[in-house]
Amino acid sequence: MRKKRTISVRHPQLVRFRNALREVISTAKRVETRKLLDEGKGLRPTESEADGKRVWELSDKQSKLAYAWDSSICVCVLCGSRTCDMTFNSHMKEWFCVKCYEKYHRFYERKAKEGELWYGEDFPHTPSSEWWP
Ligand SMILES: [Zn+2]
Repeated sequence: MRKKRTISVRHPQLVRFRNALREVISTAKRVETRKLLDEGKGLRPTESEADGKRVWELSDKQSKLAYAWDSSICVCVLCGSRTCDMTFNSHMKEWFCVKCYEKYHRFYERKAKEGELWYGEDFPHTPSSEWWP
């Protein structure tokens, strides 16, 4: 069984600092995404091969930026919270706020006790009881 990992901050000043840092990172992500979108506005991918290549590059950068943000400890991938302590789900390789993690952990634990197990497309060899350790 894989272990989960929770990063908790208790001291009020550190909580404010953590949340402010997450806000700075979020703002930087938004600004960079806006720059990429603006750069692509004047391009005509159907008329120019170079523009088509550039649109693909810009789109790829936006996707990577969004993926980096979504998989960071800054945000819960389920509820979008940026102000909570986070728990890393080592099975799914994603961060969730403590409340979301516990909710899903309890759900899958209860379903396993009732004898209900699933195998998803992404995890065909791992029963649902191990998705939220
Ligand atoms: Zn959450």
